[in-house]
Amino acid sequence: MDNIIRFDLLKEAIMRKASPVTTNGRPAEDFGKYVFNREKMQRYLSSYTYKVLTDSIDKGLPLNRDIADGVATGMKQWAMDMGATHYTHWFQPLTGGTAEKHDAFIEYDGMGGVIEEFSGKLLIQQEPDASSFPNGGIRNTFEARGYSAWDPSSPAFVVGDTLCIPTVFISYTGEALDYKTPLLKAISALDKAAVDVCKYFYDDVNKVISYLGWEQEYFLTDKSLWAARPDLVMTGRTLMGHESAKNQQLEDHYFGSIPSRVLAFMTELENEALKLGIPVKTRHNEVAPNQYELAPIYEETNLANDHNLLIMSLMKKVARRHDFKVLLHEKPFKGINGSGKHNNWSIGTDTGINLLSPGKTPMENLRFVTFLVNVLMAVYKHNSLLKASISSATNAHRLGANEAPPAIISSFLGKQVSEALDHLESADTDDVIKFDGKAGLKLGVAHIPEILLDNTDRNRTSPFAFTGNRFEFRAVGSSDNCAEAMLTLDTAVAYQLREFKKDVDALIADGLVKEKAIVSVVKRYISECKPIRFDGNGYSEEWKKEAARRGLDCETSVPVIFDSYISPESIKIFGECNVLSLTELQSRCEVKWEMYSKKIQIESRVLGDLAMNHIVPVASRYQSILLDNVTKIKEIFSDEEAADMVAQDKTIIKDICEHISVITKDVKDMIEARKKANRIDSEREKAIAYHDNIITLMEEIRYHIDKLELIVDDRMWTLPKYRELLFIR
Ligand code: ADP
Ligand code: MG
Repeated sequence: MDNIIRFDLLKEAIMRKASPVTTNGRPAEDFGKYVFNREKMQRYLSSYTYKVLTDSIDKGLPLNRDIADGVATGMKQWAMDMGATHYTHWFQPLTGGTAEKHDAFIEYDGMGGVIEEFSGKLLIQQEPDASSFPNGGIRNTFEARGYSAWDPSSPAFVVGDTLCIPTVFISYTGEALDYKTPLLKAISALDKAAVDVCKYFYDDVNKVISYLGWEQEYFLTDKSLWAARPDLVMTGRTLMGHESAKNQQLEDHYFGSIPSRVLAFMTELENEALKLGIPVKTRHNEVAPNQYELAPIYEETNLANDHNLLIMSLMKKVARRHDFKVLLHEKPFKGINGSGKHNNWSIGTDTGINLLSPGKTPMENLRFVTFLVNVLMAVYKHNSLLKASISSATNAHRLGANEAPPAIISSFLGKQVSEALDHLESADTDDVIKFDGKAGLKLGVAHIPEILLDNTDRNRTSPFAFTGNRFEFRAVGSSDNCAEAMLTLDTAVAYQLREFKKDVDALIADGLVKEKAIVSVVKRYISECKPIRFDGNGYSEEWKKEAARRGLDCETSVPVIFDSYISPESIKIFGECNVLSLTELQSRCEVKWEMYSKKIQIESRVLGDLAMNHIVPVASRYQSILLDNVTKIKEIFSDEEAADMVAQDKTIIKDICEHISVITKDVKDMIEARKKANRIDSEREKAIAYHDNIITLMEEIRYHIDKLELIVDDRMWTLPKYRELLFIR
């Protein structure tokens, strides 16, 4: 009976898809409705299977294969009860986004019918034909096999009629082809390294967890207008378009109320998200017109990242139902703010201590300073790598522009914390540490208030700001998979904490008491990592010069920035922390360079096409109207009378002529530059050629198109303008 297809449920699922669920206003009740969480596990699994599974999840142990069948059966039953007819391994290829391949639960039953089948084997591992995912040369085409393998630490969920099983994606030879694999490894490396350092302060800490609370920025635009902009459709951003007379100068959008049409979208999105167990909490307008933000309550990094990917695809689906298009591109519109993803990051123990939060006792404050300073050291030493982790063809438009963090990584600490560190640096170790008989340890660290939250002045220009009990990595792109930035940060901090332990242990071995050893290493680190600390205006020109003087990475060419992945330092930290091997790093770079070139190539083609078959024809048609006009004026008026009128028209005609001729020439040059770049074999060199030789031409073409937009008769202009795209009514 169990194995017979439940047509009643199938029908229900179809019905559900046809009529989207509306809000019932009681989010708590529906929270996690579509998630195979512990409560569902308990209901659908035998008590033995439940115990083994949850144990292995909690302790991070590999799952005993013997129980996989039991888990699969329970999971399938639950999914079918939720209306699922299909299942998929859900993974995160290097293209960005997520990938899935749906299979129905059915199998032949050997008697001419079908039964529903979902075994432990299918749950644990699959072999998606993965030859078309980017792999940077790890898999040759004849060895196209890749495996997806279940990640039990992120719960399965049902979307529509499909059971989605979060998985890692690796090659036949075991290299990671995705973001999740190295992220899990980095989280585990950080756990180990941080637990070891925690032992200086606490006896009972067995696990350190890295947390992520992302804030997702995005634009909404009307779907029909979007459809009339081939550049938006094909590249996700406008490749042309003159600034609208009104955009964000009044800052009225940020404080304004949310338009009702948008609110309806948000409400439905939130309801759907809550059902998928995503604890969405905050929504508001952003600075630019049509720009919004959504943020959940923070979660363990791996889960938070899955949830971010899920929300990005959910947004797109829900938007469709409201005749909107979601733009996740970092810079869809020139001249107004772009979108980022602020990654709020912290580390906490299994005993409930936030390691980046000051405590009540001197020893707890020493622990706070220890972890804070180690994070700063990690960010200082690996600032170029961290920049590489957030760099892409699309994010490049945002970074360094006047509203986002600059393309230089630095860290803002706020006045109080900065002063505490400065004080500690200049104090004498013996003054800092005093053993005071009965009172125990006294720490001469300047008073660190327990709650710094909201006391930290908000420096919006800092790419890596300390905000009271966490760091906020603000340079991450809005369309990015957060994993790339998080796995890099976790690895850098893990490696740094290992170094710290070595340094402290060496001093202890020399006979120093533990506390003094810690203080003395911390003091040294404070001096060493000073160049990364910057509390001033990150947008200013002076900062660029100052940062260069300090030896921070100021490179702005994205393909060159990627080199940091394979610098000796990066190879060392990724290798020693067992996160990514040299082969994996090299292949990732290849993929990054390839994606970079392809993105610019597509943009450049779209721009060229639009320029030549939309813009130039429209502009010449308008020009010929003006020419007609001139002839007619001359026919009717005397030379003297006509002079002024003709002169006016002539100026415009000449302007149009000039713009058209530059555009035409640049498009030709751009095609030639692309041809030349495409002939280059090395992906790195090709990406550099695209960066150096094509982007400037694109910018110049855009400049002239935008000028024409201001001249040509509005009724003739075929593309929706910024003023239409940017204001939802
Ligand atoms: P902001 O004022 O920076 O825009 P928001 O409230 O929009 O702040 O978002 C802050 C994000 O930081 C939320 O996702 C929140 O859950 C998360 N967050 C808060 N505390 C921590 C923490 N200790 N570790 C990680 N993330 C945190
Ligand atoms: Mg924030």
